[in-house]
Amino acid sequence: MKSNWRDKIRKIDPYVPGEQSKDPDIIKLNANENPYPPSPDVEAVLHQFPVHALRRYPDANSGNLRHALAQHFGVQENQIFMGNGSDDVLALCFQTFFCSEQPILFPDITYSFYPVWCDLFHIPYVRIPLTEEYRINPKDYQRINGGIILPNPNAPTGIGEGLEFVEALLRGNPDSVVIIDEAYIDFGGVSCVPLLDRYENLVIVQTMSKSRSLAGLRVGYAIASPELISALEAVKNSYNSYTMDMVTLDAATASVQDDAYFRKTCQQVIQTRERSVERFQSLGFTVMPSLTNFLLVTHPKRSAKELFENLKAQKIFVRYFNQPRIDNHLRVTIGTDDEMDKLFCALEVLFK
Ligand SMILES: *Cc1c(COP(=O)(O)O)cnc(C)c1O
Repeated sequence: MKSNWRDKIRKIDPYVPGEQSKDPDIIKLNANENPYPPSPDVEAVLHQFPVHALRRYPDANSGNLRHALAQHFGVQENQIFMGNGSDDVLALCFQTFFCSEQPILFPDITYSFYPVWCDLFHIPYVRIPLTEEYRINPKDYQRINGGIILPNPNAPTGIGEGLEFVEALLRGNPDSVVIIDEAYIDFGGVSCVPLLDRYENLVIVQTMSKSRSLAGLRVGYAIASPELISALEAVKNSYNSYTMDMVTLDAATASVQDDAYFRKTCQQVIQTRERSVERFQSLGFTVMPSLTNFLLVTHPKRSAKELFENLKAQKIFVRYFNQPRIDNHLRVTIGTDDEMDKLFCALEVLFK
């Protein structure tokens, strides 16, 4: 007799991250990682870490790290929630804040993890199309909903909006939790942290993966009203109280305390981005205005998919999305000046 146990297993299309590779020769511009190392203070912490301490459980409240972040942002410690990368924090936010029968709203072109979590947690959703200019119009989000999530700056467009944009979203949605995913905020955007005093339904999520060069450690956090943070803590403590490990807590704290290095490397990425915009344009590309560490580009005469494959054959990895409205675009992470020079040399040859 044939068994039916397979019918009882969850089947889901997972999120697909940018391809990783062990080949050291690859110029890796496909996952929005930072080309610069983390702060030297992080390295010092890792070298000096007291290994004997590992026999104990870590601080479930991430006390030191929350304290450092609270100081950095000028908020209270009970307004910060820590997680294992912002993907972990976002997944917990979906489970905690999106519990109504109404659909949540997010843009048609955005972080592709959002619909995956909706499917995983059975959350209904509606995708709101970006405007013709690939921007988000807050008016389109004034309809009955079970919550709102969007990145600012948006990904993969790179386009960032100001405080008045976030405020318009919040004013139009006093009955929903509004989550702003600020994964790329440190590359020239305006954080909406100052709005927290006036909007108790605002949740800001940030990550140390991009601007702090710590993708490998997995550190993310939410900043919100104490009431929303307690709700997140309750859900976290219902399945794993010890999400963050002791080594990561110490290393991340060192990163937050070295503000000068953080600002310097962000500024360097921004400078390289602005140079890169000009070089793309001189090759005939159209470049979306970016406030992030990547550029979304398209060429009127060249197939993005072919360029992607050609570059890949030359060990230069960029990101291609086979998705309506952006299927002739490439998303290119900003590397070092040297890496970008190699990319543009390769493109110049392809365009001869
Ligand atoms: C990279 C990214 C994240 C996730 O970052 P983590 O590495 O999990 O902290 C979340 N949202 C957006 C929009 C991102 O681009």
